[in-house]
Amino acid sequence: MKLIFERSMPGRGQDIFPECDVEIKLPQAALREKEAALPEISENEMGRHYTELAKASRGVNDGFYPLGSCTMKHNPRINEKMAALPGFTNIHPLQPEWSVYGACKAMEMLEHDLGEITGMDRITLQPAAGAQGEFTGLLLIKSYHESRGENQRKEIIIPDSAHGTNPASAAMAGFKVVVIKSNEKGMIDLDDLKAHLSEKTAGLMLTNPNTVGIFDDNIMEITRMVHEAGGLCYYDGANLNAVIGLVRPGDIGFDCIHLNLHKTFSTPHGGGGPGAGPVGCKDFLAEFMPGTYSKDDGFVRAEKSLGDMTGFHGNFLVCMKALTYLLTIGAEGVPELAKNAVLNANYMMEKLKDYYPMAYDHTCMHEFVMSLEKFHKESHVSALDVAKALLDYGIHPPTMYFPLIVDEALMVEPTETEAKEVLDEAIEAFIAIHKQMMESPESVMACPVTTPVRRLDEVSAARHPILKYTAE
Ligand SMILES: *Cc1c(COP(=O)(O)O)cnc(C)c1O
Repeated sequence: MKLIFERSMPGRGQDIFPECDVEIKLPQAALREKEAALPEISENEMGRHYTELAKASRGVNDGFYPLGSCTMKHNPRINEKMAALPGFTNIHPLQPEWSVYGACKAMEMLEHDLGEITGMDRITLQPAAGAQGEFTGLLLIKSYHESRGENQRKEIIIPDSAHGTNPASAAMAGFKVVVIKSNEKGMIDLDDLKAHLSEKTAGLMLTNPNTVGIFDDNIMEITRMVHEAGGLCYYDGANLNAVIGLVRPGDIGFDCIHLNLHKTFSTPHGGGGPGAGPVGCKDFLAEFMPGTYSKDDGFVRAEKSLGDMTGFHGNFLVCMKALTYLLTIGAEGVPELAKNAVLNANYMMEKLKDYYPMAYDHTCMHEFVMSLEKFHKESHVSALDVAKALLDYGIHPPTMYFPLIVDEALMVEPTETEAKEVLDEAIEAFIAIHKQMMESPESVMACPVTTPVRRLDEVSAARHPILKYTAE
């Protein structure tokens, strides 16, 4: 596909405005040395260019998108409509509170609902992403220990199945990361946890269900052990889709949590777009929170607040999409969505397990992980090859090579918003690829064959990305 600059033809511009007849005097230093290299292109050609671009990208609207750990669910359009209301989009963050009462009320409603859902006492909507939410939560834990003079509590315990952002956030918050093992069931090894708890423990960061899609059987015992050692428990709530409305992290011993509105709460994500990672905490941590809304006091920053995580109120419009989502599905819809997410994942897992070995022999939650290690050893077909082969069926590949504790991993998360027919089609595609693998492994390694480009040089793309066009 040509770049818009390559489609450009001198003189093809769209002269719909008259020549400027106002004299503008700018200081020499502010002037360009040569004309800006802008593309000159007719409106017709420009329309085609952007349509072509749109066709070259892929999203949930194009088909099944089982990207594990990302919860690529359908984003109801009403969310966009509500977030686009002039009362939300035409306000300025510096407007006095009395003039934006509706927006404040909406934030307060969302904080309240998220508090109900998580079992936490206080919520801040400020963090702009899951990772920033983690960082915020860890700073709360740090502030807590420091306020008690327990400065030696510098270790954050993280299971080896964790999302990469967990150790990164802990390190950024100034903690030492202590990694503990998972057992053969994909759950925390209690002996290993015990061996690493000490007076240096600041806390535990746990994703639940974890990144292999498993709800830890011993969760109550785990939080009890950490508390007994004087540590706090952080819940990475990015996988809340599996348990929302059914289990409240605050009820099973967690002290703080972040949520990914751009996963569980259906607001769009991907492509570097805006997200939101609200953080919730129990009352005893509230004094350290960034700004929160309170019904009686309006926007408050506690005296010992660790400060703002983003300017103003975070990604306000993303929060409005999440609020709309909650209001449209209602209190009954919330547990329903979790149950369907779990049902869909288990349905696919059951149908596929005779063809693809599952990493863990366990009922899964909202996602499951298969391991292609056996195929890779026998016929060299890798998880990457199967992912590429799925492209020929119009299916976005599952997450590959994550979590790191599973060799040749493919992690599938169907989400609750897919119909049974869509799942059945995907299951058929997986089974067809399995057959192809058995009959002619080389042909799988040559996939995809129907896409505009075949195998890309992903290493160079990651190591030497060309992100801008230099005009001659
Ligand atoms: C997505 C995810 C995160 C990070 O969220 P971002 O918004 O991408 O920063 C953290 N933990 C888990 C388990 C996740 O799936």
